[in-house]
Amino acid sequence: MSLRAANPVWLGLDIGGTKIAVVLMDQELRPLSGEIFPTQTADADALVAGIETAVCAALTAAQVTAGQITAVGVGVPGLVNPATGEVHLAVNLNLQHYPLGTVLTERLNAPVYLENDVRMAALGAFQYVQQQKPVSNLAYLSIGTGVSAGLILDGQLYRGSHGMAGEIGHIIVDPAGEMCACGLRGCLETIIAGPAIARQWQAACADFDDEKEITAVSVYNAAQQGDPSAQTVIEHVSTTIARAIQWLVMAYDVEHIVFGGGVAKSGAAFLDPVLHALAKLSAGSPLAQTMLDAEKMMLLPSDYNAATWGSILLARKNHKPGLSTEI
Ligand SMILES: [Zn+2]
Repeated sequence: MSLRAANPVWLGLDIGGTKIAVVLMDQELRPLSGEIFPTQTADADALVAGIETAVCAALTAAQVTAGQITAVGVGVPGLVNPATGEVHLAVNLNLQHYPLGTVLTERLNAPVYLENDVRMAALGAFQYVQQQKPVSNLAYLSIGTGVSAGLILDGQLYRGSHGMAGEIGHIIVDPAGEMCACGLRGCLETIIAGPAIARQWQAACADFDDEKEITAVSVYNAAQQGDPSAQTVIEHVSTTIARAIQWLVMAYDVEHIVFGGGVAKSGAAFLDPVLHALAKLSAGSPLAQTMLDAEKMMLLPSDYNAATWGSILLARKNHKPGLSTEI
């Protein structure tokens, strides 16, 4: 019996704009090792070399060989074609029309399954929630540098016709608002994404020190410490997030909204004002109160990497067609 057949492992990769997370799991989905490396974005060769380095480190840490890898799941922040393994566009990785799936299949000598990172994270979030209670429909709302939702409908990942289902970051919220990178004006992303939150606070403070680096986390911290201008920004952001949640719930009748991404990492400082905004939005409507119940809103534990979990689950499912994403 070959080593792969005797002792197979699954490899999950979450390739972000700044870092690569790698996780190795055994057949029973017990984590064997996990590594985080910086992403090399100079060009495609540098990116692939960086991925290989991260994978080697994870293999060494788990004391397994490359030959034991059964299949690999890879989450990529951009537009990908899971059928061909091509990355059509990943701005943060400096990739355009690149056959990342084929290249990694050759380098790692194992089948590689690509998917957009937020959709991978939706699969990982689905698994997490399923471990608490049976669930069929959920939306994973990622709020970070960008804004996007991953949808699980009737227990399956829903991609839409072009893999764009859930790209609500580019729904127009304020037609007179700021220009968005996508070419539209006033997209959701221009208000609730991390950089947009930082920008709004900077604009609200006339005496701002330009040298000081402002992030969404610093705005949440300042709001919690009682800074009135930060509180005004967070209230506006949270009201807008509450509306986005209402679209998702009313469009798909999901049982849960699970929050992820860098902005949601602010934890209670992020969630409490969103719950407050949802309560305010629902105040006069029994329908909205039922649909937007606070129990439906979930934060993942900070140490749960939904995207790498999802990558492993997708690799496992695709490698054994018919296997559900449930453990
Ligand atoms: Zn846009």
